[in-house]
Amino acid sequence: MKILLKRISVSLMLAACIALTKTVSAQSPGVTRTLVRAGHVLDMKSGKIADAQTIVVVGDSIQSIQPSASVPTQPGDKVIDLGGMTVLPGLIDVHTHLTMNPDFDPYKELTSTSAKEAINGVVNARTTLLAGFTSVRNVGASGFVDVDLRDAINNGQVPGPHMQVSGPLLGITGGHCDENLLPIQYHLQGDGVADGIAAVQHKVRQNIKYGADLIKICATGGVLSKGDDPQASQYTLEEMQAIVADAHRLGRKVAAHAHGAQGILWATEAGVDSIEHGSYINDEGIAAMKKRGTYLVPTLYLEDWMLEKGNLPPFYGQKMKDVSAVAKANIKRAVQAGVKIALGTDAAVYPHGLNAHELDVYVNQIGMTPLVALQTATINAADLMGWTAKTGTLEPGKWADIIAVDKNPLDDVRVLQDVKFVMKGGVVYKNDR
Ligand SMILES: [Zn+2]
Repeated sequence: MKILLKRISVSLMLAACIALTKTVSAQSPGVTRTLVRAGHVLDMKSGKIADAQTIVVVGDSIQSIQPSASVPTQPGDKVIDLGGMTVLPGLIDVHTHLTMNPDFDPYKELTSTSAKEAINGVVNARTTLLAGFTSVRNVGASGFVDVDLRDAINNGQVPGPHMQVSGPLLGITGGHCDENLLPIQYHLQGDGVADGIAAVQHKVRQNIKYGADLIKICATGGVLSKGDDPQASQYTLEEMQAIVADAHRLGRKVAAHAHGAQGILWATEAGVDSIEHGSYINDEGIAAMKKRGTYLVPTLYLEDWMLEKGNLPPFYGQKMKDVSAVAKANIKRAVQAGVKIALGTDAAVYPHGLNAHELDVYVNQIGMTPLVALQTATINAADLMGWTAKTGTLEPGKWADIIAVDKNPLDDVRVLQDVKFVMKGGVVYKNDR
């Protein structure tokens, strides 16, 4: 009986699939095509510009990209005219904190609630999307607010980028990912604090249980935390090996916050997928990352922003000065040595929506060519996220995540600070041309 039912349902499904295929290929009523008529399309792999192209969008995906002359408008087609504009894939930021806002009074932060953070997330997700960033990784949020935000975006309840989220950050007691602002009688602890092999394994499994797409850990001290040293390693090599083994076995990548040289090296040797910040990276770290193919996610525009506008309390301010004094030179050496780079910003440390300023730093301070800089925010970022089949280039079968700007960004990447058109998953969220 059971087998019979199964057979019937399988053949019904097959029939449905065949029907669907026929409908799509015949372009019959019910399947709306959106024709994005682009003045110029930037090929993210080669840097070449193709003029007068039409991107055919069906549902949430790109169906084809062809010279406009060969794609006549058919009855029922929606047409978006981006003549004169340069069109490229939606950008990706692999280091954001959408549920947080810049606030440099750390004791005020203690009054935050999950509800406030959810509201922040709704506002900041929209701001980030409208800035042209159609995918992000959210690397650290308390209370799994980021999981709910991702789901609300995917359900169409609120506008925002495609998200991969980490949930609470794993870290040692008293480390960068703990809460160190109050004395012991308040018993305040970060959600992701775990010490020792068994405890970190439990925490990885718990984060996955409650919806994390990736695992974020603190390998060293940080800047915006009290009483720790960015250069000091926090997790041991053995703890990080245990984290990576569990995460990878369960299909999740690991991102490691790491400023100090030893923490960068240990996290790399433990097999993490990306090093976030990397401020004090040295030759040993560079060699290890190259050997393993580990991504480096520099977060450099925040230093410029802080210098100009940051108003940090003294126990953060000195660390910010120390890290800023060396980070760009070290990252530049890593870039020149050929370490793989994916664009990240740490947005939340400065206002959301300024993410594209990071590209300007890569080109005008670190010495990347504009194309290489743009690849960090598209092809490379998609690769780090395991989303190469979904985004990072404009190709048939990928998400219709498409942005447009007034000029060729290879002539000046700063044009990406003023994105005029944003489509995500085939839906237009901005058209200011
Ligand atoms: Zn961060």
